[in-house]
Amino acid sequence: MYLSDLKTGEKAYIVKVKGHGGFRKRIIEMGFIKGQEIEALLSAPLQDPVKYKVMGYEVSLRRQEAEQIEVSYEILRSVDENPMTSTSTPRDQQQHNTAGVKELTVALVGNPNCGKTSLFNFASGAHEHVGNYSGVTVDAKEGYTHFGGYRIRLVDLPGTYSLSAYSPEELYVRKQLVDDTPDVIINVIDASNIERNLYLTTQLMDMHLRVVCALNMFDELEMRGDKLNVDKLSSLLGMPMVPTSFKTGRGLEQLLSEVIHIFESREGHDEYYRHFHIKHDHEIEDGINNIQKYLKGNELLRMRYSTRWLAIKLLEMDKEVDAILRELPDYDKIIEARDTAVRRIKEETGDDSETAIMDAKYGFIRGALHEAGYVVGVKEDTYKTTHRLDALITNRWAGFPIFFALLWVMFEVTFTLGQYPMDWIDAGVGWIGEWVSETMADGPLKAMIVDGIIGGVGAVIVFLPQILILYTFISLMEDSGYMARAAFIMDKLMHKMGLHGKSFIPLIMGFGCNVPAVMATRTVESRRARLITMLVLPMMSCSARLPIYIMIIGAFFAQKYQSWVMVSLYAVGIVMSVIVARILSRWVIKGEDTPFVMELPPYRFPTAKAIFRHTWEKGKQYLKKMGGVILVASIIVWALGYFGTMGVAPSLEDSFIGMLGKLMEPLFTPQGFDWRLDISLLTGVGAKEIVASTIGVLYGDAYNFTPLVAYAFLIFVLLYFPCIATIVAIKNESGSWRWAWFAALYTTGLAWVVSALVYQIGSLLI
Ligand code: GDP
Ligand code: MG
Repeated sequence: MYLSDLKTGEKAYIVKVKGHGGFRKRIIEMGFIKGQEIEALLSAPLQDPVKYKVMGYEVSLRRQEAEQIEVSYEILRSVDENPMTSTSTPRDQQQHNTAGVKELTVALVGNPNCGKTSLFNFASGAHEHVGNYSGVTVDAKEGYTHFGGYRIRLVDLPGTYSLSAYSPEELYVRKQLVDDTPDVIINVIDASNIERNLYLTTQLMDMHLRVVCALNMFDELEMRGDKLNVDKLSSLLGMPMVPTSFKTGRGLEQLLSEVIHIFESREGHDEYYRHFHIKHDHEIEDGINNIQKYLKGNELLRMRYSTRWLAIKLLEMDKEVDAILRELPDYDKIIEARDTAVRRIKEETGDDSETAIMDAKYGFIRGALHEAGYVVGVKEDTYKTTHRLDALITNRWAGFPIFFALLWVMFEVTFTLGQYPMDWIDAGVGWIGEWVSETMADGPLKAMIVDGIIGGVGAVIVFLPQILILYTFISLMEDSGYMARAAFIMDKLMHKMGLHGKSFIPLIMGFGCNVPAVMATRTVESRRARLITMLVLPMMSCSARLPIYIMIIGAFFAQKYQSWVMVSLYAVGIVMSVIVARILSRWVIKGEDTPFVMELPPYRFPTAKAIFRHTWEKGKQYLKKMGGVILVASIIVWALGYFGTMGVAPSLEDSFIGMLGKLMEPLFTPQGFDWRLDISLLTGVGAKEIVASTIGVLYGDAYNFTPLVAYAFLIFVLLYFPCIATIVAIKNESGSWRWAWFAALYTTGLAWVVSALVYQIGSLLI
């Protein structure tokens, strides 16, 4: 029978994982290995994907993937051996503790959601965003801390389950470890899921790096009543391990002092700092040795890499390592040795070499945990509550209504609650403007301050409260673990668009700001789905567009219609993104879909501190933008409107901006925009907020167009060229200007067509 046949609530044991390549490897790395118990927990509303529990972790699989996994109700007799020997090979390492500046670089490596960023923030005092779903950290963040006479440079890396070259994140982390050569690695481990987290540790052992383990979430382990002899485990793996909890900061000092200890002492000095080889069966070991023979002769290679690691990676058919070795004169012989080994492994174990190596690693982990007296406790754990909540939140009937209700509440609160502080700020801005008008003498300077600076920046700053509220909601959803569920229940629909359940998180983040959202697409493993996600993201109406909406809607639509107009804009954006995604996936960006494997982290109470920090960071960014780009743009727009060819322009129409607008006017006649609107669109290319400030400067309060034009204008603003920052982000993430240009042009073309249609059809009807 297959995993897909398992009914909700049933348990079985894994017999075999079928399938090929990346999928198979990934599945096995997630803990789907022979003999493991697996339980079907629940299905998404549309019966697909299904959530399973394996090795204490919860993962979701699509039906088609579950069909690749053979299971049985009977447990297989598995030999719980301990394939570990202490072939400690102390390698000569240079002493780093020279006099002079004592600085050292420490990289944080670990699975997604194990608390790396929390550690980073605690140690460096930074305010990086922690989130309860994978992929929040998409780039390396750097911070500093001082400890024990050292200045420690901390690098927070993206979360990975392994260091194979399967996803961009894994490649990235591996590259950082090899090329950036941090002095010490802190391997952050989610101690409440220790077995699977240690898989990554075994890969770090292969790479022969200096590692200190932070057994994080130790609070959860204790709460559940687990038993574990940390010192024993630490000596078995040959690396110091420190129980930590970065909810409270517990263990930080000890962790850092271990880092310094490792840095200053020599390998093999004590039992907590030794180098082990994870011993494989003889046919694998022979293969490793045969390959290593050729590698060891090369001094340059030996300096950069552990040759054993290279050999193991080669046996795992790693393409990157293959490419590194291709330069060697002995390349042909190496590949021959590998192929012989692979064949022998297949003959003797019946498995391919990748699987055989992974099995050995899990065997090692199990053995080590066993020796360290690891027993899982039975007390109430996080997952109990999580189960109850998930039963409701991902329920077939309740899932979608809850999801949409939450979105609705989010927007409703943002707009209604945000209205009060917005009115206060608005009154404040008006008061300052009047005060300056009264006290200053007439002239260009006064005009610049009142109409340019106060008018322009004021038009935008009033939206700060709304933006803060929106970000508070997004952080709450991220930190609590709800976002991962949202992706889970949306998967099937996303799939229909050629996207991926994981695309959903970046899309939601896009409502905040498109730039980090484009970066967050890194979690989507399929390059194709990732590219499509990136390209449709600009249609998620970011908070920078909000000021324009509120300004125009407030002026042209009666109170009772305002919310509807607003919702309709977001809806148009979403519908357009669906259409474009379908077109792209159908005709433009072809390729295969990759499997959906997504971790569902337990629900956690977000700490108030984290939420405040995150929200405040965003607010600060917004204010900074206000002081910079928007201030400068407002002054430029004002100056272009104040002066003309003959000095101070008698009227706006004779000014430079008037002339430019007139020049553009024919381009937008199908939309019914007048030259002032054209100008504001042009200025919005830099950042969308500037559209609002430009309108503020150009019109004051006297608008002279119809609600229909206003709506067509809003549609144009929604859809056209996102902003320079987003385009640059797309260039960086897609790796080519081609896609960046594509995004810039198609969005503008689409905006032109749709807004023209709105105006033309609207004119016929009204
Ligand atoms: P990262 O993905 O590894 O960077 O993990 P984060 O630092 O973003 O943390 C993931 C989640 O775990 C957040 O909700 C944290 O608040 C929470 N968390 C981090 N450390 C601990 C800990 O030691 N104990 C508990 N209970 N929760 C933690
Ligand atoms: Mg992180």
